[in-house]
This record gives sequence, structure tokens and C-alpha cells, in this order.
Amino acid sequence: MARALLKLSIYLLLFLSFASYAHGQTQYTVHQSQYVQSQNYVPGEIIVKLKTDSSTMGSARMAVRAQSFLSRVQSRNGFHLKRSFRELHMYHFAVPTGMRVEDAVAQMQNDPDVQYAEPNYIFTKETIDLPSEHYSAQDVQSMSVQAQSSGNTAQSSTYLATSAPIEVTSTWGNVTPNATVVVAVVDTGLDLTHPVFTGANAIWTNSGEIPNNQIDDDNNGYVDDVNGYNFVANSGAMYDDDGHGTHVSGIIVGTGENIYDGTYSNSLIKIMPLKFLDSTGSGTTANAISAIYYAVNNGASVINNSWGGPNYSAALEEAIAYAYNAGVVFVAAAGNYSDDNDTTPMYPANYNVPNVISVAASTDQDQMAYFSNFGQQSVPLAAPGMSILSTYPGGGFATMSGTSMATPFISGLAALIKEQSPKMLSYQIKQIIDQQVDMPVDSSGNYLLADKVATQGRVNFLKAIDATKAALVQSTQPAYSFSSQDRQLASSLAASGCGLIKQVIHDDKGGGPSNGLGPESWSIFFILAMFAAPILMYQYLRRKPVQRRVHERFKIDTDVRVKVGDRELVGSISSISMGGVQLNVDALIEQGGIIAMSIRSPDGRESIAVEGRIVWSEAQKSYGVQFAETNEAIKEKIASWTARLQRAAFKA
Ligand code: CA
Repeated sequence: MARALLKLSIYLLLFLSFASYAHGQTQYTVHQSQYVQSQNYVPGEIIVKLKTDSSTMGSARMAVRAQSFLSRVQSRNGFHLKRSFRELHMYHFAVPTGMRVEDAVAQMQNDPDVQYAEPNYIFTKETIDLPSEHYSAQDVQSMSVQAQSSGNTAQSSTYLATSAPIEVTSTWGNVTPNATVVVAVVDTGLDLTHPVFTGANAIWTNSGEIPNNQIDDDNNGYVDDVNGYNFVANSGAMYDDDGHGTHVSGIIVGTGENIYDGTYSNSLIKIMPLKFLDSTGSGTTANAISAIYYAVNNGASVINNSWGGPNYSAALEEAIAYAYNAGVVFVAAAGNYSDDNDTTPMYPANYNVPNVISVAASTDQDQMAYFSNFGQQSVPLAAPGMSILSTYPGGGFATMSGTSMATPFISGLAALIKEQSPKMLSYQIKQIIDQQVDMPVDSSGNYLLADKVATQGRVNFLKAIDATKAALVQSTQPAYSFSSQDRQLASSLAASGCGLIKQVIHDDKGGGPSNGLGPESWSIFFILAMFAAPILMYQYLRRKPVQRRVHERFKIDTDVRVKVGDRELVGSISSISMGGVQLNVDALIEQGGIIAMSIRSPDGRESIAVEGRIVWSEAQKSYGVQFAETNEAIKEKIASWTARLQRAAFKA
């Protein structure tokens, strides 16, 4: 009788697992090129964030925790503190010589006071290598005058290189200048002497700072930060040794006035250059987040981010959430890899924080630029990004292409909206920009951007400004607080296993059912199962769409071949469920990364090929892999394997 009930409860659990599995099937679709890139970080450096428990923990206790953490870290094998983000309880460390970054991350993640630890990832500018044409200021001026005299006002302005009707010039004189708006350009820097920026008085000035006195006059943590800050050189000396940041900044100023004709009015958009990309166009997470916190704390309303990379950084997401809670718009390049960002995430463009506007690049014919990333869910709209003419260091102009060039159009528009309506928060600004796009069509009436971006549209400045004037300004926005849920979940999964069955199978090591389990143990298991069933049922009913599924997990010992990007690895599988496996392989695989596995059946007679996503990791040796997509044949095979395992386990 007891055994029959036990079997019944097992079947109930199995049913729940299958139901949950079937329900969650469509949530993950995966792209081949998401394979992990393991060397996308600065060698020898990590970023560590302490748990803050802010609701329950006073600042004094937090300071004690931070102090004890730091002395603990520094007392052991030579971690060197490079920078401390004190208010955030975040630390940037150099790891001891000879220690691998992945080992340092694992070591920190095991510290009970650590919320997350991660490599110091590298990001790059989002331009592409199309031929760049260079013009002197005089050339551009005469081109502009020529276009004007031939009656082509659009061509005489920001549109010199794009004839897409984004209606920038129609907004000039149409925006009521209620505020001066600061746009932080987190990029390669700025040529402060370029006539467009000096002529239009378009460079942000920190009024609290006295230039070149080597003193942090306004006590904001940065010395001589008169016109922004150079996080690469760690100084107030601003320059642009690449050209990218100056070009991007010109597009932003150019959304508010004509930057080509040699005459300037006082720009209401002020550029705050924050240099974090070096002369090769690369920069680090540590410097990017420094720049973002600087921007928010020093009065920027919009942050332009014409850069990105494939690695998820919790520290970066947290910085963007900070910007959101301060009402700041965060505009990011969708990327230039012709990729679908819905399946191949690009960061920061793909962070799901409500102030992030990810921008694809369109051509002057309103088609998607061939290089541009897209995403029906993750990329809301497109803006021109092909051969855009803008300012270049040295006083002249150049054409450049990329989602890097599309992004500042949207930053410029966000700034104009803020000029018109200073109290509008990022959430509403994003809403207006998205809702007021044009949806270009081809000659047969088909939407040109239909499968590419969420709105199927390309930016329209005039419509967005008109909508801003008509809008009722919302004083609140949806709450958003960062949580590194995945990582916490990961460690809890690693610590506790994935449910009851695993627990029982662990017990099996010390004389389980197959070795003749006594009746007392059976009834304990039975009672456990009866308790677990309603809990699992409850979890199944209350789970959110993205919540991870719960499956019975069976102990298994079999071989697996793993493909991670170009690497081929051999490892073992120590447990399996309908939803995934526990993979043991001696290699660093990034959390969130996609791997391809060929798993051998326990009897060695067959194998299944399946893709999965790393959802937790332990000591760079053991990984929780969630199956990305499995077809019916694979499901049947796993079911038959687990059924056999189950029969073996309960042969009492
Ligand atoms: Ca200062």
C-alpha cells in the first residue's frame, strides 16, 4: 500500500515536471553565435560587489562588513585593491600574480559577504570599417551653402549624408527651450577645441571645479574634472585619440542646430565627455560604470552609449538601474554584427532596465543597414547610421557608419524632449520616442523594418516633439531595482540540488533503494514526497514566466562531449532531468553562455545532441545546464533513460 502511494506521488511529481517543461518550452530560443567568448576581459582584474541587504542593514553595520571583507581579502595571497566604489560597496581588484581570473571570481563568489564577482569585461565602439571620407570645415560649409541655395534645406543640415525624412530640421525653433540639457557621451573623449563645440558653446562645464589646480574643488571624487573626465588616463585632461567620441558628440549637437554652415547659436544641449574607450576604441566595465555613475551624479539627463559587447555584467546593469532611478535616459547601440539581439544579447543594449533604448541603424532608404543588429523584442527602433557626416578631431568633418552613429540621433532627440519638458522621466521619454516613429514601406506597401525592430519604425523628431508638447508629464515611473537574481539562484541551486529526487539519490550513495532500503527509510521518503508534492504544485502554479523550471533530477554517470565556441571539451554528466543536466568539465564557461552537448546514454548505446544554457556554475568545474531547445525525439530519449534510472532506483 505504502509503495503504491509512493509510486503515485512519484508519478504526480513526474507529471508536474512534464507540464512545467511543456509550458516553458517557448521561452528560450538560442542562436549559434552566442557561444562563449572567454577572453573578453582584462587579464588579472575582477569586480566584486558585497551583499548590502539595504532594507535591514544600517550603514554602520555595512561599513563593518566592508572593512572585515577587505581585510580578509587583503590578508590572503595578494589581492590588490585598484579602486573602491565606496557608496556601492563595490571593489575593483587586481588578482594575485599567477592566479587565473576565473579562479579569483570563483574564490570571491564563495565568500558569504559577496553578492557577485565578475571579470572586468571589455567593450568596444560600434563603428564599422566602411571608407570614412574626411572634409575640412570650409568644404562642409560650402557644401551646406550650395545645398541651401538649391532649396534643399534638409540636405543643408544634419541630413547631408542621409535623406531619410527624420524631420530634424522641422524641430529647430519648434522646441521651447525650457532647460539646458546635459548629454553624457561615454566614449573615446572629445576634441574640446573643435569649432562646432566652441562655436555653439556645447561643452558641459563643471562650475564647481577650478581648472588645473590639482584639487577636487567640488569634492565629487575627481580632480580637475572641468569638462568631463578621462577614466582611461584617470585625469581631467580631455582629448579624443580615436575620433569616435567627437563624431558621436557632433551628431547629438547637430540634432539641435545646423553644425555644417559655420554659424552657430548657443546650444541648449551640452556634451559631457566621459572618456572610457582608449585609442583603439576599447574600454572596461570598471571605467564604464565609473563614467555612468559620474554622469548621473553630475547632472546628465541622457547618457549616450555607442559601444557594447557580448558579456553580461551585473555591475553594468546595476549602474544602469541607478541611472533609471535618477530619471536618466540610457541610449545604447544595438551592435554591428547583423545579429538578432533577441537571441544573441548585446550589452548594454539588451539590459531589461526600462530607461534603455537600444538603437538599430537604418539606411537613407529606410532599410536596415546590412551590418546592424536587430531584434523584434529587444530593439525598439532604428535611426540613420550609414555614412553620417559629423565632427572629427582637428576641426574638420568625416563620415562614419554604425549603430554608433544611429544611437546619438536618439540621444539628441531625448535631450530635445527634455528641453521641451524638463520634468519628464526616462520612461515616458522612451515611450514617446517609440510611439512616434515612422513605419517606412516599400513600393508594394510592405513595412521595410517589419521583422527587424519592435515598433517596425524609424525615428521621427517632429512627431516626437509634438507628442511631448501634448503629453501630460508623469511624475512617477514603474519601480525597478536591480537584483542579481540569477547568481543567487545559481548558488542556491548548486547548494541544495534541484529537488527531492536528487536528495534521495544522494542518500542512495550510502546504501539506497537498490541496496535494500529498509521500511523505515521508505516511510520517511514517502512522508517527504507527500510534503514535497504540494510545495512543487504551489511553485508550479505561482511561477512567473521567466522563472526557472523545477524538474526531478536523476543521478547519472555518463560521458559528454561539449562544444563551447571553437573549443571541444570532454566531461561527464552527473545528473539529468527533462530540463537540463549537471555538467562536470574542467574549463571556464561563462554563466549565460550557450553550449552544444553530445550526451551518451547510461548504457552507452546511443547519444543525444542538445544545446543548453549555463545557469549556474561551481568552482569552474561543475555547471548547471538548462536545455535550450529539445525536440520530441530527445524528450523521449531522456524520458526512457530516466524511466530506466527510476526503475533501477526503486527496485527494492
Ligand atoms: Ca571635482
